[in-house]
Amino acid sequence: SIARREEILRHIAGLPQYIQDDLAVIREAASEMGNQVYLVGGFVRDLLMNMPNNDLDIVVEGNGIELGRILSKKLTCDKLVLHASFGTASLIFCNGTHLDIASTRREDYDFPGALPVVEESTLREDLLRRDFTINAMALCLNEDSFGDIIDYYGGFRDLQQKEIRFLHNLSFIDDPTRMLRAIKFAVRYEFKLAKVTADAMPIALKEDVFAKISAERFTEELILIYKEAKFQRMGRELIRNGIFKAWFKADYAWNFEEAESVGEQRSLTERWLISLKNLDSNEISAVLDRLTLPKSLKRITLEYLRLKQALKLEDLTDLKNLDELLAGVPLLLFNILGSDDAYTDPLKKYRLLREGIQMKTTGKDLRQSGVREGPEIGSILKQIRLAWLEGKIRTPDEEKRYLEILLEKNDRADCIDNKPI
Ligand code: ATP
Repeated sequence: SIARREEILRHIAGLPQYIQDDLAVIREAASEMGNQVYLVGGFVRDLLMNMPNNDLDIVVEGNGIELGRILSKKLTCDKLVLHASFGTASLIFCNGTHLDIASTRREDYDFPGALPVVEESTLREDLLRRDFTINAMALCLNEDSFGDIIDYYGGFRDLQQKEIRFLHNLSFIDDPTRMLRAIKFAVRYEFKLAKVTADAMPIALKEDVFAKISAERFTEELILIYKEAKFQRMGRELIRNGIFKAWFKADYAWNFEEAESVGEQRSLTERWLISLKNLDSNEISAVLDRLTLPKSLKRITLEYLRLKQALKLEDLTDLKNLDELLAGVPLLLFNILGSDDAYTDPLKKYRLLREGIQMKTTGKDLRQSGVREGPEIGSILKQIRLAWLEGKIRTPDEEKRYLEILLEKNDRADCIDNKPI
């Protein structure tokens, strides 16, 4: 309708200037090529809800690779990635915007040097391959139809009804990661799952649909969820809908219960480790086996696991052992270990003592005082640190006196060592 078109043009006029400029350049380039070009997917969805989005997804009825090349010259682009066999191009700009170009025309070569076999599809087919109606709308960018919304599947209606609805009944069977995406969008926008879509979830899970997807695909969607502001509610929904149970083949005590305002402030690593807080070591290992976490996240999870196991065996009042275990541990990990009730008090106490250490002596000082290079140096430094922790030293002066005594002892030990037999 005219009213809807005017509303959309108003939304576009409200976009940040740099995005409007990008859109104008895309439009020009497509016109020069004589192709129709559309904005599609999440950008259109968010535009209609007046929400910011810096990821432009466009579909061109023509050669996407060529359009990618032209745009990378016309827009100052930081990086251009071309996928010739898919006919897609991705551009990354220095202002943080992403532009993904897909084409409805794909050129394939039967063998190198052969003439291209052109595969044509339509915008309608492109949109039908998408996940939900609200993500399957297109917005025309060409001059004559600028701002027209193409909505074959009722996306606009579902936005108004606040519903996440898939495009066909086999959608979750075709791609089970869409179940995670459905929950993500529903919680993010405070929408409901449409009844058909909600009903299809337990049916798909019963069919063990996750068996056919890789750990990479599942992990990727899961990490996207942990990056969302409302990740804890999403996590609770994943549990409530049986997604975690179906994937991990066990009902773990995931923790998504922190106050939302606190949770939101945390880094991805903290969010992840805190969600594992109530799992025992075997369970955490099993979780790791089912996922392909990014390297750094996996490394810190393994370190967390190692410390959790070690602390269980440790006498938590033994400052020397505790210090050996925890001296080099990053603060983030330290705090997360401390959030386990069993360790809260001893770790708090240890941390206070550790913060009180004002140790001045260094290895260089010891060498200058005549201690031989070798293990003695490390051992003396450790003894001083421990004396601080245990409260035997409380001031730099006391440290000096303590050191003198240690050095005397060290000298005497040296004499004994050097005595002829
Ligand atoms: P976000 O705001 O989370 O980035 P988005 O909709 O832009 O949301 P992307 O993951 O960037 O999400 O995907 C871009 C578009 O690609 C989606 O809007 C959707 O149309 C389509 N899409 C993504 N994943 C799938 C999937 N698993 N199945 C079908 N279509 C998908």
